[in-house]
Amino acid sequence: MSDHGPRLRAELDCVPASRAGAIHRLAAHRLSHNENPYPPLPGVLEAIYAVRSLNRYPDMACTALMNELAQRLGVPVSHLATGPGSIGVAQSLLQATSGPGDEVICARLSFPAYPVITKIAGAQSVQVPLTVGDVHDLEAMADAVTDRTRLIFICNPNNPTGTVVRRQELERFLDRVPTDVLVVLDEAYQEFVRDTDAPNGLDIYRSRTNVAVLRTFSKAYGLAGLRVGFAVAHEPVAAALRKTALPFGVSQIAQDAAVASLRAERELLERVNSLVRERGRVCKSLAEQGWVLPETQANFLWLRLGGRTIEFAEACEQAGVAVRPFVGEGVRVTIGVAEANDTFLRVADTFSPSLARARRPLTRP
Ligand SMILES: *Cc1c(COP(=O)(O)O)cnc(C)c1O
Repeated sequence: MSDHGPRLRAELDCVPASRAGAIHRLAAHRLSHNENPYPPLPGVLEAIYAVRSLNRYPDMACTALMNELAQRLGVPVSHLATGPGSIGVAQSLLQATSGPGDEVICARLSFPAYPVITKIAGAQSVQVPLTVGDVHDLEAMADAVTDRTRLIFICNPNNPTGTVVRRQELERFLDRVPTDVLVVLDEAYQEFVRDTDAPNGLDIYRSRTNVAVLRTFSKAYGLAGLRVGFAVAHEPVAAALRKTALPFGVSQIAQDAAVASLRAERELLERVNSLVRERGRVCKSLAEQGWVLPETQANFLWLRLGGRTIEFAEACEQAGVAVRPFVGEGVRVTIGVAEANDTFLRVADTFSPSLARARRPLTRP
């Protein structure tokens, strides 16, 4: 009898082996992961060094962090759940809601992790194309709901296009979704939003028991390396999350660093404002080069390049900046420090649509 090794779940055959984007060669500037280019906020390193007892398990209930969040967000502690990054919390949400035979709706293109963690949960991923303006098509997403739907991801602002859904259209959508379907508002980039018509998920969650909000310390707060995120949701969803969470999944270092980051609010705001200003500058330069971009409210932008995507990403890498290609679609470029952005802009200029038009031979009638 031949040895085939242990039987593994067939669902894993549909999961990419290297989670896309995980591998890239060393470029001087990494504009591929939507990371914050700044060092930790004041007080964070001190909080990290103060954790001496690495032989002890962390506080499983994340008490200090939960209390700090509850107070700042104006929500009960019982409506909070933490996890190893908001992607970790999203995975717990799937475990709490979805399994074989169930459907999970998200947009396409949206955060590539959604279909992956859906598959891992054994559920079916239903991907609804964005509108021509690269925004979530909420009408089509509501139309896609069946009696098998258990969860819907709304990524606001959307990764990778940076676009937002507005408050009114989101409310209309939620009115159409059955209240036994969990709607997850993933607000990983909420701090960068300046569009006053964009909703704050916390306002939406307060009046709707089937809405959960995901937030993270990885982006604006600059703690991607420590893995800490959280959800705000009503009971019994929050309670289910605390049951399905990986035990001791958030280290003491991460918990204490997150608390210190929350207390450095003024500096956080300054850094976010400077990235938002830099975003404005980069987008204006791209417009001057002839690019037409979807309006981004996040710390990254989206260039639709179709068949030239890989060529563009390689040109960036040659120039010393790593960007994130979505094969056949486009590239997502994080707003970094000015020097990195300028390098990216120089590459973008050599690919600019107006240049392509100028190069095209004139045809005579
Ligand atoms: C980066 C990102 C996250 C956050 O990931 P963490 O696990 O918290 O680091 C979640 N959702 C989206 C859409 C993201 O882009």
